[in-house]
Amino acid sequence: MAKMITILIPVYNEQDNLIVLYNRLKKIIDHELNEYSYEILFINDGSKDNSLMVIKELKLHDSNIRYVSLSRNYGKEIAMSAGFDHATGDAVVIMDADLQHPPELIPEMVRYFEEGYDDVYAKRRSRQGDSWLKKQTSKWIYMILKKISKVPIQEDTGDFRLISRRGVEALKQFREQHRYTKGYFSLIGFNKKGILFDSEPRYAGETKWNYFKLFELAIEGITSFTSAPLKLSTYFGFIAAVLALVYMIIIIIQTLLYGNAVPGYPSLICLILFMGGIQLISLGIIGEYLGRIFDETKNRPLYFVDEYR
Ligand code: UDP
Ligand code: MG
Repeated sequence: MAKMITILIPVYNEQDNLIVLYNRLKKIIDHELNEYSYEILFINDGSKDNSLMVIKELKLHDSNIRYVSLSRNYGKEIAMSAGFDHATGDAVVIMDADLQHPPELIPEMVRYFEEGYDDVYAKRRSRQGDSWLKKQTSKWIYMILKKISKVPIQEDTGDFRLISRRGVEALKQFREQHRYTKGYFSLIGFNKKGILFDSEPRYAGETKWNYFKLFELAIEGITSFTSAPLKLSTYFGFIAAVLALVYMIIIIIQTLLYGNAVPGYPSLICLILFMGGIQLISLGIIGEYLGRIFDETKNRPLYFVDEYR
């Protein structure tokens, strides 16, 4: 029997991209992947525009199209996990709906899959259509993540990749509320292969990306991978305690030698503010982890499906 390839596409307000995307995909599938059976699995992540209608329209013409429509917008990370849960292929190709990920790369991914690779990821050679600041910030975030986490993270790699069936089965076992899927790809291991591609500008519509989201994702990446920041506050506390001890000794000696002259208001205020700041930061770090423990212990379902056809 022919192997089945699932093309998994999370969709949130992409009505003007879907038809162009489908046509480009279809061309590639018909010409270069004709010995495979395929399914195109759209995850409609609570789109507020006509995306779902366009998908249904496409499905009328192509029975290989399937869709899962989630009950509301959950964000791309959860949309992808819904995709892993519903994909039936022997290999799953994840790609964005906005044509930033060229479908022309898929046959090469499938070739490596046939060679036995479980995770064929596309690495950006260039990033057209992204601002300098966006490129720079994501570079810094990777730098920090690499420094503090023990699991290697592939730089300049988005979510455009092919995952084998056993890789998907592994990914399905991550049921965390706070998700960092890029990290899971590293955590599951298996045979990895990187291929290069040029990221294209988004075809139509607006990116849902912004600096706040990036910041949140960075915190997600750090907290879901390492408890190093907690250790950091321990170190800070330790250093502050040692400094305080030294200062205490200086003051005692000063008082013994010269008597108590009551100065020291500026240093007192500085110390109070400094210590207060460090304590608040440490509390904040503890709070970040505590909040995550709270969210995870409730063990709530990740998403609800409105329609699955
Ligand atoms: N997406 C989603 N749910 C969301 C936000 C985005 O499913 O809440 C999808 C979106 O439709 C697209 C992909 O995730 O297919 C990447 O989104 P986007 O292009 O906005 O991000 P960027 O490429 O700018 O990082
Ligand atoms: Mg995009």
